[in-house]
Amino acid sequence: MSSHAGAARYAWNWGLAACRDRYDAEGKWWSGAELHRLWNKAKKADSALGWWSENSKCVYQEAFRDLERALRDFVRSRKGARGGRHLGFPRFKKRGRCRDSFRFSTGALRCAGRTVTLPRLGVIATHESTRKLARRLDNGTARILSATVSRTAHRWHVSFTVRIDRDVPGRHARPGSAVGVDLGVATLLTAVDDHGTVIEITGPKALRAGLRKLRRLSKAHSRTQRGSANRTKAAGRLARHHARVANVRADALHKATSDLASRYETVVVEDLNVSGMVAHRRLARAVTDQGFGIARRMLAYKTGWHDGRLIVADRWFPSSKTCSGCGGRKPSLTLAERTFRCDACGLVLGRDVNAARNLLALAASGTERLNACGGDVRPGPGRAAAREAGTRHCARRSDRDRHRANDGYLSGELIPSPAPHGTVNGTC
Ligand SMILES: [Zn+2]
Repeated sequence: MSSHAGAARYAWNWGLAACRDRYDAEGKWWSGAELHRLWNKAKKADSALGWWSENSKCVYQEAFRDLERALRDFVRSRKGARGGRHLGFPRFKKRGRCRDSFRFSTGALRCAGRTVTLPRLGVIATHESTRKLARRLDNGTARILSATVSRTAHRWHVSFTVRIDRDVPGRHARPGSAVGVDLGVATLLTAVDDHGTVIEITGPKALRAGLRKLRRLSKAHSRTQRGSANRTKAAGRLARHHARVANVRADALHKATSDLASRYETVVVEDLNVSGMVAHRRLARAVTDQGFGIARRMLAYKTGWHDGRLIVADRWFPSSKTCSGCGGRKPSLTLAERTFRCDACGLVLGRDVNAARNLLALAASGTERLNACGGDVRPGPGRAAAREAGTRHCARRSDRDRHRANDGYLSGELIPSPAPHGTVNGTC
């Protein structure tokens, strides 16, 4: 698998160098398909590239496709045609400094029980069962489009891009139900539904303990000598623990968001928990940051499965400062104040509960607003929610898209095989 990752990296760098050379001479670069043709010629002409046949040819092709996409995104980002963070020009990849990853889009891509079958690599044992996907493949409701193998914190993962036929109900099982959700760090999420019921999900104990350990490990890492063997070891420990905390958090979020999406037709969340991020700046910011994005993405597609909808409140919506009782707004609310006290009406409420109630109130006004501007927007493929004019944007599946096949991701962890490529290794 390392060899395949190296091949993908080599192909990327080879293609990028070729594109840069051509750009200097002619002012344009090669497409992915052109690069693949050039590569096929080069690998036969140059005997030094003879090692290519040790890896699946698909890996090189997919690396060129990735490069083409990276160059296209770079141009679109610079022209302002692409949302999100500004993208720089693609960079060369260096072993050990980049993420090891490669993709197959053709050949034998199968899974059964606790194994996956990949081209050239053969049958590989997995830690997780692939039963769910295998069952869908058997009864014909899913088709594997590609398999991406990547390494995170010394562990190999495989992720399948799958086309799944999924029946979306014509109407949510509980029409008219709504819930406001405030995402946090200390409590994973606080929600208030239209009956006034407060749902507080504190997150598993393992998460809280994990965050404490994360802090300890990152301190230990920063105390080691730069460039030393101990620093490498500490970095490995920290990376593995980061991955574990992220997994525990994602698991808890999956359970919570599935529950919310199935129980409520309308779910309202904040765009970004800026206050939360500032409050815990010192504490594994990446983890919390990631958590908010993940939760919102999960809610976006899961509400789609149940024909519900997700309303994302504007980033500047003062959900924490506004009184959910009388609508009065506090001029300031420090982050240390965990309880909301209204000066006007005397309401005393937990800070997160107050915020969730304000978001819920947005659902009622949001419905009118959405109908008024006719905004039935479906989430785009790469983004959590489609942006809409006005103060908030919303994601919703429109009627004509119902029963439409959608792409999903299913992934599992691989057990690295010490055997050479292509060897059947089911007993590992
Ligand atoms: Zn008040």
